[in-house]
Amino acid sequence: MSISENLQIIRSFLDPYKTKLIAVSKTYPSETILEAYNSGQTDFGENKVQELMSKYEVLPKEIRWHLIGHLQSNKIKYIAPFIHLIHSVDSFKLLKEINKEAEKSNRTINCLLQVHIAQEETKFGFSEEELLHTIQSEELKELKNVRISGLMGMASNTENEEQIKKEFQHIQKLFNKIKSSFQTDQIKMEELSIGMSSDYKLACKSGSTMVRVGSAIFGSRNYL
Ligand SMILES: *Cc1c(COP(=O)(O)O)cnc(C)c1O
Repeated sequence: MSISENLQIIRSFLDPYKTKLIAVSKTYPSETILEAYNSGQTDFGENKVQELMSKYEVLPKEIRWHLIGHLQSNKIKYIAPFIHLIHSVDSFKLLKEINKEAEKSNRTINCLLQVHIAQEETKFGFSEEELLHTIQSEELKELKNVRISGLMGMASNTENEEQIKKEFQHIQKLFNKIKSSFQTDQIKMEELSIGMSSDYKLACKSGSTMVRVGSAIFGSRNYL
């Protein structure tokens, strides 16, 4: 299967009015990304700043770049001038640092708060309690150069569909709760970033507005 065929198959499952496809291009070279771009894909996700930067420099400027991996404070300055959306904000401290760099770039950076929904200990993200605390904090209001545009989550790495469904429904509930009770000019629940190659169809049933799909488009990364 070619990249453009894979993209077509995935898009045929998505309601274009509800769910955007973010092509996760980590580990794949720029030529491969260009192939997807030439098939009409404009949103790409990377999980490492350095890799994102080297691709940003050589690829068309029309591409919208999404950072989806854990971000270190000292790397924000590189992506602040152009990043379209940071999906992986996992602490208030990081949000403050993003705000600082956004201000230097004269921008407002759209951010998603990453919520820990999986059973695994290793995944980053806010707990439900931390999330609700952060959303309501007075300190947040002072961060004029960031906008909270939604939530991101990763389900457990399991074959158990019931478990994955449960985790997606949990984050969807949180999303709707914040949307109905805590929206401000700065907090706008527009994007729910859930679903990867193995579970994007399930995620769509739980209201995903952005699926982050890599291997189902570009092939397995295992050999890399
Ligand atoms: C790698 C990655 C994806 C895509 O994973 P696939 O299984 O290849 O679709 C999605 N989200 C995050 C945060 C990732 O790191």
